[in-house]
Amino acid sequence: MGVFHFTGSRGRIRAVFSAAVLAGAIGAAGALPGTFLTGYAGTGADQKAASGAASAVSASDLPAGVTAAEVKITDDMKYAGNSAIKSGSAILYRNRDGAHGSTVVCVNAGHGTKGGGSAKTLSHPDGTPKVTGGTTAAGAVKSTAVSSGMEFPDGTPESSVNLKTAQLLRRELLKRGYSVLMIREGSDVQLDNIARTVLANRYADCHVAIHFDSTSSDKGAFFMSVPDAMKGMEPVASTWKKSEAFGTSVIDGLKKRDVKIFSGGSMDMDLTQTAYSSMPSIDLELGDKKTDHGDESLRRFAAGAADGIEAYFAE
Ligand SMILES: [Zn+2]
Repeated sequence: MGVFHFTGSRGRIRAVFSAAVLAGAIGAAGALPGTFLTGYAGTGADQKAASGAASAVSASDLPAGVTAAEVKITDDMKYAGNSAIKSGSAILYRNRDGAHGSTVVCVNAGHGTKGGGSAKTLSHPDGTPKVTGGTTAAGAVKSTAVSSGMEFPDGTPESSVNLKTAQLLRRELLKRGYSVLMIREGSDVQLDNIARTVLANRYADCHVAIHFDSTSSDKGAFFMSVPDAMKGMEPVASTWKKSEAFGTSVIDGLKKRDVKIFSGGSMDMDLTQTAYSSMPSIDLELGDKKTDHGDESLRRFAAGAADGIEAYFAE
């Protein structure tokens, strides 16, 4: 591994990537911009991926016509310079034969970046301070690059449940003919919240980050809406109305699947993701520590979110 000094599962993930990259380079070089991955994605290893192992999955788990390619941050991408952790790769699943294949949905499994809690990034691209408090307090010019997330009462980390849900949503969207940009497919990706947003801005038509909140009241699902104090700042000024319409549509999709909804379905929050997004983008909180995170619930969340995404693009 030369200059790489990764340990444990991170080393394993890297090794799996290398094998997949090699297989792809032999089998399908030139088929796509970026690196073609054959042995990557799908069903069987989702479980393993959620528990921390690498998620190398057979290409046969992907619908026909779907290809997967690694995409990375490059310096020419807007706001790339504001990111502190950006060496990782996201996976772009192109649905060439899909009915909506030209539409790319960024599915971002929240958290899951080792070292993300100790790195800091500018809260807003223009250097202004945060207008609401969250993981980082209101007034802070710099925010946690990507926090580690909460833990469910049974000890399951939020990041694992987010990943499982994201993979179910990825599968649902590919089945319905959309293309998907998956930010994270394993327990760790070296992409902070700015890097994730930069990739979504570059490759996707919308961005949904999957989370569960840290309260313990079974409050229900909601999206983080845009606080008024952010609405005059670019790129938020050009984006927030679309993001709110997108969020409303996703919550509506969940509601129709009988998912419990918190209050009016939204809560104003100044998030790094919001501050840097140049297309419709939401942080979706599917519930909290008390919310059932069994497989059936997660499947319902994924189906409801997919319904909402579909309805948004159908308008
Ligand atoms: Zn979270």
